[in-house]
Amino acid sequence: MSAPTAAPVAHTESMFHAVLARLDAAAKAMNLSDDVAQVLRYPQKLVKVCFPVTMDNGSMQMFEGYRCVHSTHLGPSKGGIRYAMDVNEDEVKTLAAWMSFKCAVANLPYGGGKGGVKCDPRKLSVGELERITRAYAKAMRDVFGVNKDVPAPDMGTSGREMAWILDELNKVHGEDVPGLVTGKPIVLGGSLGRDAATGRGVMVSTFAALKKMGLDPKKVSVAVQGFGNVGSHTARLLHEHGVKICAIGDHTATFWNEKGIDITAALAYAKKNGGVLKGFTGGTEIKSGELLTAKVDVLIPAALQNVITEDNAGNIQAKLIVEGANGPTTAEADPILQDKKIIVVPDILANGGGVTVSYFEWVQNKMGYYWTEKEVNEKHDLSMETAFEHVWNNAQEFKTTMRLGAYITALKKIEQGVKMKGFY
Ligand code: NAD
Repeated sequence: MSAPTAAPVAHTESMFHAVLARLDAAAKAMNLSDDVAQVLRYPQKLVKVCFPVTMDNGSMQMFEGYRCVHSTHLGPSKGGIRYAMDVNEDEVKTLAAWMSFKCAVANLPYGGGKGGVKCDPRKLSVGELERITRAYAKAMRDVFGVNKDVPAPDMGTSGREMAWILDELNKVHGEDVPGLVTGKPIVLGGSLGRDAATGRGVMVSTFAALKKMGLDPKKVSVAVQGFGNVGSHTARLLHEHGVKICAIGDHTATFWNEKGIDITAALAYAKKNGGVLKGFTGGTEIKSGELLTAKVDVLIPAALQNVITEDNAGNIQAKLIVEGANGPTTAEADPILQDKKIIVVPDILANGGGVTVSYFEWVQNKMGYYWTEKEVNEKHDLSMETAFEHVWNNAQEFKTTMRLGAYITALKKIEQGVKMKGFY
């Protein structure tokens, strides 16, 4: 691939650097058209809004919100909304690009988007969160649209925030359009199966990879980092299928139990304990970083980005890493894992179950006809298994990693969309 002709996106030490590194490597491997590669190096739209919110103590505070649309070549942009203190332009741009690739890998008629509000949801009251969410939705009213850009929950947000966004947008536009957001509560048009879908997709990806590796799921040990939406459902579903989970952890505590942690007990404990694991007695407490290098067969990072780095990749003992989180592995750690022959099922494949069922939710909203949970799960599993096979086959064909195989799978599709839609 030739050097970019326009000013390159500044990416030194940014997360977007990881996107460009993987995009460039996949583009080179598959001989992607330079024009298409150039288009995908830039987000189509990047919106920043600042808005005032009245806090519970009567004071006023300003908040910053972002929304990035990376691409709409295969359909409306789709992607979550994150509430965290480190939300910034670079992060939403990166996450939006990953969504473009993820939707293409999952064969969904979507492009990629992502948004967020810079705030610490754990330090805000429900009332403050509602006012922030409604103000953000109103500020983004011209960006979001059922056939334009469709948000969903991400870190720090849930169906509750989606209900507020939906209500605010419906009021602004004066009509009821449930497909404006996905990940909504069921009663407002959410889909059965959506809540557990990302974890379910991680489970399907784990089983598919173990099968390729000739490993029996009932004989492997697993560590799961993160016990929020993705981590807890992943751990629960694997546990329900008889898989031994030896380590779990969240931002408050990390636990190890060589005989396997009783995940049902951990879930019940977290439910009673404000959603966190601190104080759980079903394992020995270890340091959070030790979970990543623990002696297990399968490592599932399902919390944060950039946790597997060049500093700890060499110490990872797992044979298989299934990325539940977005971007848990830095671009610098990739070659170290590859040298160690660790198979990595990348985020843009492994955690695609959430957006897949978001798509099913959107389809059901458009039809006004709703499926049973069994129907949703069956369609989800088939979709994830098919995506896994496409990625695996591309990785084999191009003699590369599953990560690049996933990028190649996505780029083959997006390339057609970009070329068919053309340029001015
Ligand atoms: P969440 O907010 O529900 O849970 C995050 C979890 O990470 C919590 O258990 C939290 O305690 C834990 N955590 C935070 N800091 C930690 C630390 N330093 N060490 C260990 N654990 C820590 O978020 P989520 O929805 O489960 O998302 C997790 C990841 O999965 C994110 O990268 C997100 O972008 C990605 N993801 C989520 C979905 C979805 O449907 N929710 C879909 C695709 C990808």
